[in-house]
Amino acid sequence: MPVLSIANQKGGVGKTATAINLGAAIAEAGKRVLLVDLDPQANATISLGFNRREVFISIYEVLIEEMSARSAIFPTIQSNLYLLPANENMPGAEVQLVGRENRAGLLRSALSDIRLDYDFILIDCPPSLGILTLNGLTASDGILIPMQPEFLALEGLTQLLKTIALVRERLNPELVIAGVLLTMYDGRTRLTREVEGEVRKFFGGTTQVFDTVIPRTVRLAEAPSHGLPITLYAPSSNGAEAFRNLAQEVLSVTQARFGKGLERPDAAVPAGGADSGGFGETAGDGEVGTGDTHQTDSPEPTPAAPQLP
Ligand code: ATP
Ligand code: MG
Repeated sequence: MPVLSIANQKGGVGKTATAINLGAAIAEAGKRVLLVDLDPQANATISLGFNRREVFISIYEVLIEEMSARSAIFPTIQSNLYLLPANENMPGAEVQLVGRENRAGLLRSALSDIRLDYDFILIDCPPSLGILTLNGLTASDGILIPMQPEFLALEGLTQLLKTIALVRERLNPELVIAGVLLTMYDGRTRLTREVEGEVRKFFGGTTQVFDTVIPRTVRLAEAPSHGLPITLYAPSSNGAEAFRNLAQEVLSVTQARFGKGLERPDAAVPAGGADSGGFGETAGDGEVGTGDTHQTDSPEPTPAAPQLP
């Protein structure tokens, strides 16, 4: 049961759209999927048709008040897709976690009871590298990084990769980069194609950049306002097809990485094994955009790296 965080500290790159629609497409393929809304904006919760004011037990109560995760999970309109929502209390969580013992490990502990109930757990992270995202990364086997192929797309990536390296070093040695996903893709523009080339070159072979790209479509933009994933809102649209293709890619990558889905990742990786099963790892302390990537099993923190608790 791989746990994947959908994370990028850049805002509006399609994290929530990916979390919901990839979750729905994997669920449609017959897997039991849990989507965790870890973002105080509660966009995933709202986009699946929930009223966050009427959610009384949410990820906030799980993290802050130690309610059980199981008591906070709701079925959604998409069969096989379950939601652990965010509610109106959630904006206070970041501050309330200051000074808490093991504060980056709370989500991991909370999910430990229910991990085996699902084939897949996806965590929609907020657009920051704060304590909530650290909770997501600490609880995860992999991170899926959505990126919008436009000017400055790679800006900020160094910081994200440093954070991943630090999380691996101090909080969760098993965290890998599950893949990079190009979102809101408009193949008609030269800029999109150029940035795509740059992104694929930057990650060049060490880290999976999914072949599937998510097109920019009106249907994908509309679906959240109807409280539906794209699989139900416009089942035969390009957007739905793209997310089904992505689901197949993610399933085959994670299958290769996690075997039957129940083995721990280290059982499946040979020493130094960034090449195994298509699940690569990049720790980027090189200059972004130069293609200067390398794999590390014991990434060194750098002076500019953010401080972890
Ligand atoms: P935040 O950082 O605020 O959490 P995000 O990274 O989760 O944002 P989304 O909320 O998924 O990004 O997307 C930003 C906006 O773009 C939303 O209004 C969403 O509906 C829209 N959007 C996302 N993906 C697509 C797409 N492929 N085509 C068209 N619109 C899209
Ligand atoms: Mg979001």
